[in-house]
Amino acid sequence: MGPANPQGAVIPSHSTLPLRCWAEIDLAAIERNLRLIRGSLPAHIRYVAVVKADAYGHGLQHVAGRLMHAGADLFAVANLTEAAQLRELGPGWPILLLSPLLPDEDRFAAEYGLAVTVSTEDEVSRMDAAGKAARRPVSVHLKVDTGMGRLGVWYEEAPALLRRISGAEHLRLAGVFTHFASPDDDAAFTEEQRRRFLGVLATCGLDRPAPGGLFIHADNSAGLETMPGASPFNAVRVGLLQFGILPHPSSFLAQVRTEPVFSFRTRVGIVKRLPSGTTVSYGRTRTLTRDTRTAVLCAGYGDGIPRSVSNKASVLINGTRCPVLGRVTMDQTIVDVTDVGDVASGDEAVLVGRQGGGEISIGEFSRWADTIPWETLCSVTKRVPRVYRTALGT
Ligand SMILES: *Cc1c(COP(=O)(O)O)cnc(C)c1O
Repeated sequence: MGPANPQGAVIPSHSTLPLRCWAEIDLAAIERNLRLIRGSLPAHIRYVAVVKADAYGHGLQHVAGRLMHAGADLFAVANLTEAAQLRELGPGWPILLLSPLLPDEDRFAAEYGLAVTVSTEDEVSRMDAAGKAARRPVSVHLKVDTGMGRLGVWYEEAPALLRRISGAEHLRLAGVFTHFASPDDDAAFTEEQRRRFLGVLATCGLDRPAPGGLFIHADNSAGLETMPGASPFNAVRVGLLQFGILPHPSSFLAQVRTEPVFSFRTRVGIVKRLPSGTTVSYGRTRTLTRDTRTAVLCAGYGDGIPRSVSNKASVLINGTRCPVLGRVTMDQTIVDVTDVGDVASGDEAVLVGRQGGGEISIGEFSRWADTIPWETLCSVTKRVPRVYRTALGT
């Protein structure tokens, strides 16, 4: 329709059009969450704010600004693109890169002033060379594999690699850390990982309060319950929890009343009646067993409603749960509104979040999708605008 515009009317930009499907982000809640988490930790524990994957889909630059303001000590991201986005916000922000650099990315560590996670001799040599080339030392955090089997030097080989780092002229050791494989459901293995890590620290003389501002860290949101008082740990890496999502209810931080930051909303496209016996949506996986009033919502898997919630999820309309009928499609999802009062085109439907007296948590939505909140947040697509609420309520 673009060219047929004889009056020269301005076609509204994306940002001025009414919302069809959006994620609402409460930035004030993020700040309150960080302060609550901080307040529940011993005073010497530093806060590593994990903001990879566009701050878990919340929007890196918006979120990081708030976390900075609320007192994060270090930002952790996955790659150079994310680090560069943070650098646009503030040149002095300390940033830790959690993923390995590729050889053709090495020089950017010094250029952006990043701390780099290293696991191998190869990486140590390359970062040393990068520091030499840039004429300033590159900061590194040595990652120790205590049983995750992903990044990190195997713990038995860690002391040797740590000695190499200490002896490298163009490296500055800024931290030592490990990562737990099953902090939420295997306390015995987590304890074993912690024991291995403490063993490495003891061998290297790092088992006392760390010298020179070295970051010693192991725990993520789910692993804080066993944080011992007099241990060498002096930092935590917090991702999910700062977004108000509890990884598991028995964790140390379950007592911290963080609040949800994210909600996922769409609107009713049309409302119509279908007779009993009709099948609904692709593949005809649902047959109506009564005369049904349906609402066709303006969102589908193209927005991040996983197809796996077909026939399982409910949404809130007028504060009432309305079950999804049949398969989720790319742009539309059909729900049963027979038992809800007045429903009309344009009404809001909540996929995750609160409405009226109702609430659908991201945990519940993720279980319908047979996944975890981390993945649900990362699955909200580019098509979905993030709408920021910034009022500092109480
Ligand atoms: C993503 C990530 C975290 C954050 O985990 P949450 O469970 O979201 O708190 C911590 N550490 C590492 C190494 C990570 O990759």
